Amino acid sequence: MTVAVTIDQVGKSFGNGAPALSNVSLDVKPSELVALLGPSGSGKTTLLRIVAGLEQPSHGRVLFDGHDALSVPVRRRGIGFVFQNYALFRHMTVAENVAFGLRSRPRAERPSEAEIRSRVADLLALVQLESFGGRFPAQLSGGQRQRVALARALAIEPKVLLLDEPFGALDALVRKELRRWLRELHDRTGHTTLFVTHDQEEALELADRVVVMGKGKIEQIGTPDDVYDRPETAAVFGFMGESSRIEVDVKNGVALAGSTAIAAATLAVPDGPGLLYVRPHDVTLGLHGTAGLKGQVRAFRRHGAIRRVEIAVGTAVLEADIAPTVRVPIGEKVAVRLDRARLFASDGPGVDTKAPPAHQPGDYAI
Ligand code: ADP
Ligand code: MG
Repeated sequence: MTVAVTIDQVGKSFGNGAPALSNVSLDVKPSELVALLGPSGSGKTTLLRIVAGLEQPSHGRVLFDGHDALSVPVRRRGIGFVFQNYALFRHMTVAENVAFGLRSRPRAERPSEAEIRSRVADLLALVQLESFGGRFPAQLSGGQRQRVALARALAIEPKVLLLDEPFGALDALVRKELRRWLRELHDRTGHTTLFVTHDQEEALELADRVVVMGKGKIEQIGTPDDVYDRPETAAVFGFMGESSRIEVDVKNGVALAGSTAIAAATLAVPDGPGLLYVRPHDVTLGLHGTAGLKGQVRAFRRHGAIRRVEIAVGTAVLEADIAPTVRVPIGEKVAVRLDRARLFASDGPGVDTKAPPAHQPGDYAI
C-alpha cells in the first residue's frame, strides 16, 4: 500500500514572529523517497508533523492519493514516524516495542496474537535483528535502536513513512552504513517516504528527490544532480556541499573582486553586488605565468584524500583541491582557473560563468 502525498500551499504560524512555514507545496509520488534538507529552524519538523497530524497547519491542504488527510485523526492516518531520539519504550523488549502499534489497536482491528508474533519476526528479519527480540533497548547500540524504531514504524503497514533526522544522534560511520541500508530497505518495501535531514551528503545519497528548505520556504526541489549541479539560489549553492563564497561587484557582466576580474557571466546579469560560488574541486591551479587568474597561496591543509589550498585572488579568498603529492608553499604565486562557478546577482537566479576577459583593468592585481 503506497500513496501519493500532496502538500498544497501549507503555512504554519506559531504566533511568535516569522511563520515556521509559508506556502509550501510539494507533490510526493507513490513509493518515492524525498529528503527535506535545510538548516536548523527551516521548518522541516513542522512540515513532517503536519503531514503526520501532530500539528494543524494555519492554512493549506494535505492530501493522500487526492483525499483530504487533515480531517483524518492521527491514529487513522496510517503514518509510520521515526524520530531522532529513538523513542523506544524502555521497559518493553524489542519484540514488544515492534508489536506495540498492532497490540494497541481496537480489538476488532487487532490481528491475532499468532499473526502479531509472525509479523514481528518478519520485521526483525527485515531490519536484520532476528535474534534481538528479547533484548531491552538499553542493551542495544544506537544504530540497532534506530532499526528497531523503523521496524516499529513499519509494523502498522503505514501508508507513509516519516523520518525526522533518524540518524542524527549516531556517529558518522554508523550513519553512513544505515543510510545505505535504509535505501535498500526502501527499494524492497516501497513506502512513500519523507526523510528530514540537515546533512546534504545524506540527502544526496539517499533520496530520489531533494527539497531544499530555508526559513520556512522551499528554495528548490530537484533530483540530487539538479540541486548539486544547478543550484537555483545562492542559499542552495551555499548549503549543498563545500564552496567558496566570494562577494563581487558585477560590471558589464564581469564579476570583480576588488579591481580583479574574477569571472564573467554566461548570461546577462544586472550590474551591482553579486555572489560568486565555486566548489574547491572546480578550481584548477597552474604554474605562475600560465593561463588563469593571478593568485597567491595563503594556507593549505590535508582534507581526506586531497590537499585543500586557500588562495587569494584580488580581494577574494577561495579554496582549491589538489593532489596531496603536489607541494605548494605558502606565498607561492599560482595561476587559478575556475572551471565551473556560479554567479548570483543580488537576490537573482544563478548563471554559470566563464573565464573573465583578459586584460580587464586591474586584472593582474597580484
Ligand atoms: P527544523 O526542523 O527545520 O529545525 P522546525 O520545524 O523545528 O525546524 O522549526 C521551524 C520554526 O518554527 C523555528 O523557528 C521554531 O522555533 C518554530 N517552532 C517550531 N515548533 C514550535 C512550537 N511548538 N511553538 C513555537 N514555535 C515553534
Ligand atoms: Mg527538526
